[in-house]
Amino acid sequence: MMGANEKVDNSALNALLAQLPAVERVIASPHAQALIAQHGRTQVLAAIRATLDGWRREAQAGTFVIEADSQAPFSIERVLADADRALVARAQNNLRTVFNLTGTVLHTNLGRALLPDVAVRAVVQALTQPANLEFDLATGKRGDRDDLIDELICELTGAEAATVVNNNAAAVLLALSALGARKEVIVSRGELVEIGGAFRIPDIMSRAGARLREVGTTNRTHLKDYEAAIGARTALLMKVHCSNYAISGFTKTVELDELAPLAQRHGLPVAVDLGSGTLADLTQWGLPAEPTVRATIEAGADLVTFSGDKLLGGPQAGLIVGRKELIAKIKKHPLKRALRVGKLTLAALEPVLKLYQAPEFLRERLTTLRLLTRPASEMHEAAERVLPPLQLALGDGYAVSVEPMFSQIGSGALPVDVLPGYGLVVRHSGKGGSGRSLLKLERALRGLPRPVIGRIADDALRLDLRCLEHADEAVFVAQLAELRL
Ligand SMILES: *Cc1c(COP(=O)(O)O)cnc(C)c1O
Repeated sequence: MMGANEKVDNSALNALLAQLPAVERVIASPHAQALIAQHGRTQVLAAIRATLDGWRREAQAGTFVIEADSQAPFSIERVLADADRALVARAQNNLRTVFNLTGTVLHTNLGRALLPDVAVRAVVQALTQPANLEFDLATGKRGDRDDLIDELICELTGAEAATVVNNNAAAVLLALSALGARKEVIVSRGELVEIGGAFRIPDIMSRAGARLREVGTTNRTHLKDYEAAIGARTALLMKVHCSNYAISGFTKTVELDELAPLAQRHGLPVAVDLGSGTLADLTQWGLPAEPTVRATIEAGADLVTFSGDKLLGGPQAGLIVGRKELIAKIKKHPLKRALRVGKLTLAALEPVLKLYQAPEFLRERLTTLRLLTRPASEMHEAAERVLPPLQLALGDGYAVSVEPMFSQIGSGALPVDVLPGYGLVVRHSGKGGSGRSLLKLERALRGLPRPVIGRIADDALRLDLRCLEHADEAVFVAQLAELRL
């Protein structure tokens, strides 16, 4: 037997290499034929060659490890088992299902809102059958895809008109391009938001060809600041929701009901980027208050932009609602065509919006709201059930306990409010540094067939169980057997 670091002499090497089977022999075997039926001949051939080439290189470098029991280190079955593993790994999509145990319900990096079943069914239907995406069934003529959904959006928001684009960043870009190009848009310095990644109000403004006119200071902006900035070049007054931060202490902001009359006196529209934007008053479910789109329109906004996949609970989309003439201008802008939504989005959005027509069932039917309002007792019971198998899988090196936890809504909605619940806390209890062992555990959980994403804080790995619904608990527990620490 050769060890990993033992050099192989030339004759032994030649003997070893001579045992490598020819590709033709491997491919002719029944097992290979079964793989071909699944993956296709080209891929199977490539995988077999990759396996053989890898082993040849290892043999030449003297690093090929032959197992003690092995009579035939390079048997055809071994080649195919290795190729099979590679083919399965290659066949797996890069976009994977994961467990979101971060405690952030609308996690941007984990795909934000989860669609309710009605929406998923509508998407499948729209993608597998022809649909009247841009076809008017009444006249038999060409239709407008916005017509499928704008009445419903107006009904739910009280707006005169509506349109939908790819996401809220696109909605803001489009609105500013259509209404503010080569003119000035007035925004308070306290509202020059950067949303995770690349969305920054000043940058979007310049991309749209509008000139940003900042008013006030970071902590205080007064009505007179806006008033002094209004001039011949002003196109728009804009308010932006401070999605992911809060300014507290000595502060002053101008609310919409103060700003709108000022704008009206000057014949200027007010646009509000609401960010998350909700269609229902969340306080009825005990959640923190967040301005609804309807209240924003009623307070005098002429245009409101908001996301489809934040609190609304639908697919990624940007909704633009407001005055008829403004929406008409926006719809005519060439960027509208570039930023339009596909049928996938429209198919998902309509049934989600329809859920808001029966608010008494919303908590149970809208996945996002169900997760946000999940009773703490339910999460506590889940934690008690999951603790024993998790402790068993982790062994003595770690100690698991059930603890209260505070989840976040996420995606910039209500950044300072937290939702009480329960989860599992894993602490290091063995020898060695706790930091490294927690990182190792975090990595092992990510390496599971359905990766588990938790959060390390205060010298412990925290698994918030708010988003582990009962139906998935068995999958979570079953795969713990595959945890490799
Ligand atoms: C989230 C957010 C955006 C960006 O919305 P996307 O749908 O992610 O493009 C823009 N403005 C505000 C205020 C936001 O909170």
